[in-house]
Amino acid sequence: MKQSILNPLQLLGRLDVLIDSAPRQGALILIRLHGLKRISSIFGARAVEQIIADLAKQMKRSLRPDDNLLRSGRFELVVLIAGLVNQGHAKLAANKLARILETPVEIGETVRKIPFSIGVSLTPDQTRESEQLLRYADIASIASKITRTPYQLYNHDDLEGIVTDWDIEGDLANAIARHQLSLDYQPKIRSDTGRLIGAEALMRWHHPVHGPIQPDRFIPVAENIGIMPKLTWWCLNTALRERLEWGEAASHLSVAVNISALDLTDERFIRSVRNALGIWDTPPELLTLEITESSLMKDLASSIDILNRLRSCGVRISIDDFGTGYSSLAYFKQLPADELKIDRSFVINILEDDLDQHIVSTIVQMARKLELDIVAEGVGSEAIQARLIELGCNLIQGYHIGRPMPQVQFNAWLRDGIDWQFL
Ligand code: C2E
Ligand code: CA
Ligand code: CA
Repeated sequence: MKQSILNPLQLLGRLDVLIDSAPRQGALILIRLHGLKRISSIFGARAVEQIIADLAKQMKRSLRPDDNLLRSGRFELVVLIAGLVNQGHAKLAANKLARILETPVEIGETVRKIPFSIGVSLTPDQTRESEQLLRYADIASIASKITRTPYQLYNHDDLEGIVTDWDIEGDLANAIARHQLSLDYQPKIRSDTGRLIGAEALMRWHHPVHGPIQPDRFIPVAENIGIMPKLTWWCLNTALRERLEWGEAASHLSVAVNISALDLTDERFIRSVRNALGIWDTPPELLTLEITESSLMKDLASSIDILNRLRSCGVRISIDDFGTGYSSLAYFKQLPADELKIDRSFVINILEDDLDQHIVSTIVQMARKLELDIVAEGVGSEAIQARLIELGCNLIQGYHIGRPMPQVQFNAWLRDGIDWQFL
């Protein structure tokens, strides 16, 4: 590619021209190539320039003669389309570019794919301001990266979420090193005796600027940016270490750690679990791994295989959020599990909703035949607890028994709660 890299003002100038080409619609397609810095340090800057030139040549060939392909950064290109017939045309162009970029390229002796993200914004539909148009394409390209889709068209509704996710993504990668993560522990009791059997570890992130961030929000981001194995490793070790701090009287209590669908695709996961148990000298039966039913269903055969191997190490397996996945009797029998956790959504309305009661009772009957423990989670009142016991749930968890608590508070709760030790 012969063109030199445009500076930001030159780029905005070109966008002004695009915007002024009204009444015809225009689109800005922003293409970011990732990982080239690394390739540059291994194979040299010339190799990278060659890659970009080759890709640009192919892209140009796929565009219309009056579309403009420009270089807006060392690893960034833009396409300006002035004569848009409709939005579909912009998507079509982005799709064609993505297909070219998906083709592996030769680098030295190897052939590999260059990861990329593409964001598309429209004028005048979305804005008549060049800076805004660029910002929209930028946000859309971030969305393309986070969602791992070849391209994204800017969408006003996504703006806020994506901008915040972007902050989360950068900061989350350093959260462990900066000691911003902690675990809360939520008690789990046996329903007939009221005896405490253990606690579930729930991850907390204390962001220095944004305050507490919910796991439901940051775990999907961690999965996307590939740091979930690190977080799970941190969680396993922290939970097993803190379990030891609960004291002698609590040495029989188990701890449950939530694992992500991605952990089940990682061959090293089983080794990590064994190593963590070894480091903290913990009998495997005192560790429960909770995995949601829906993540199991992503690749059932391989999940079953990994769960079987974990169980043969002696670790307990709990199927979380049960009832929300694609349960079918056919696979129910083969589930390598010790425990089913009935999803909170069935528990909340159990007193009023006959259907929910029916579902819980059906799950309990099936689980009993398979000799599985059944946990009701999200138990919020005495009355709900009583009904669940009637229905046959043998383990109970929820705000009514105890909220998730930081380690210090959980330790105090253990010391004060003489009941659970002797009941
Ligand atoms: P989950 O595993 O289903 O965890 C139970 C969630 O329900 C927790 O939310 C807990 O605080 C909340 N909860 C417990 N009892 C009650 C109750 O009586 N009423 C109500 N309304 N809520 C109750 P939390 O801590 O926000 O965690 C949300 C989800 O994030 C978890 O759902 C789990 O899927 C995930 N998560 C949390 N920590 C980890 C972790 O360390 N690793 C992984 N992979 N996922 C985690
Ligand atoms: Ca759980
Ligand atoms: Ca759950």
